[in-house]
Amino acid sequence: MDKNIINQYPQQFSGGPYWLGINIGPGWMPIVAHVCQEIQNMLSEDDLRKFHWIQIKEKWGRLTMYWGPKHQVIISAVCPEGIVEFESVATDGNQDEDMKADLSPAIRERILEIITRAQERASKTCEYCGAEGSIRSWPHISLLCEICNQLTK
Ligand SMILES: [Zn+2]
Repeated sequence: MDKNIINQYPQQFSGGPYWLGINIGPGWMPIVAHVCQEIQNMLSEDDLRKFHWIQIKEKWGRLTMYWGPKHQVIISAVCPEGIVEFESVATDGNQDEDMKADLSPAIRERILEIITRAQERASKTCEYCGAEGSIRSWPHISLLCEICNQLTK
């Protein structure tokens, strides 16, 4: 299913500084697909050329989405305490004009809103089956429903 998302929104998954893949369970795939759709609808053609996913993964039972324009990586993660972390990492490399192009602060803000809504939705959704779930701390931190939690023990 991750291939479907990548094939559906190829611009969002290509041309960035690097791409580390989608590493989440099937229960969260519809949430991620919805984020990609919202971003596709919101961004202009010009902004779409500047937006790239870096990595989409599960971290501490949370949906974590790394993204950025071509010349830097914005890390948008939610810690176990529910604090959203932002980190901007400059990447070296190409200095052509296109690589220096950046998204406007207003557009970045709207992208973060879309991602935050998805992270809130994922925080109540079983990563494996999509049913209502919650954070489980054993045997490792994960977000599961009761049934999947029993199956993984
Ligand atoms: Zn489940």
